[in-house]
Amino acid sequence: MAQLCAQLKLTTIADALPHLAQKAIADEVNLTEFLESVLKAEHTARLVRQRATFARLAGFPAIKTLDGFDFAAASGVPKSQVQELASLAFLERNENVVLLGPSGTGKTHIAMALGYAATQAGIKVRFITAADLLMILTTAHRQNQLGDALKRFVNPYRLLIIDDIGYLPMSREQANLFFQIIAKRYERGSLIVTSNLPFGQWDQTFADDATLTAAMLDRLLHHAHVVAIQGESYRLRDKRRAGLVTKRSTTTKESAANGMRSAPQ
Ligand code: ADP
Ligand code: MG
Repeated sequence: MAQLCAQLKLTTIADALPHLAQKAIADEVNLTEFLESVLKAEHTARLVRQRATFARLAGFPAIKTLDGFDFAAASGVPKSQVQELASLAFLERNENVVLLGPSGTGKTHIAMALGYAATQAGIKVRFITAADLLMILTTAHRQNQLGDALKRFVNPYRLLIIDDIGYLPMSREQANLFFQIIAKRYERGSLIVTSNLPFGQWDQTFADDATLTAAMLDRLLHHAHVVAIQGESYRLRDKRRAGLVTKRSTTTKESAANGMRSAPQ
């Protein structure tokens, strides 16, 4: 019996059978019901394992959930829009989500929470920062392996999350590679992207190429939910309360006005 289970890879059945058999006798269920309970145990355990695997393979820097997001402390976050996205209906329609807002306002948290929820719904997700993705693609491109890299990092996922567009200005080659990703996924799979820059400033990141930026935004935004987040950094909130930092140091507008880009934190 144990050997048969091992050969058929029915690992849960092998473990759970004695208990399930005892329970079936106690509950006086018929053989069909008993068999169903055995198969169900195997099926449930597989789903649990698959979800854990998807969450691991997604590469989240941390596991975040919307339950762990304090909407009361984030008045600049459009709560009902975020909760609607949590239904994950946008994934069924291959729509995109763009989270925009100043540093520390919860963009990455919300992106990871939506991504994690997707893994738990059995959807393959990949989380990557724009900087890491570009590094991988640039290296692959130079080694004539761009096709392989796209196959590995872009194509297999129903949801690709690209975090922190806009912190690093791209070279023309990188801007082109990025454009290819957006174009490849257009209407074929969903993207969630986050950025601290308003769309009007995206060409600054994309090698000052206004034409390429417009063509990219056209595809990215054709079927997209734009979540515009306002407000102050959650990270600095407590410090500010304690009087350790002043409010002036954090907003994107001010850093942009000073000609600076704030680094991801
Ligand atoms: P951003 O990506 O916009 O720079 P993050 O999502 O990285 O900001 O948020 C910074 C930190 O603060 C993270 O640890 C995140 O979990 C936490 N955080 C931000 N906003 C909230 C919130 N409203 N409730 C709970 N934690 C939050
Ligand atoms: Mg972030």
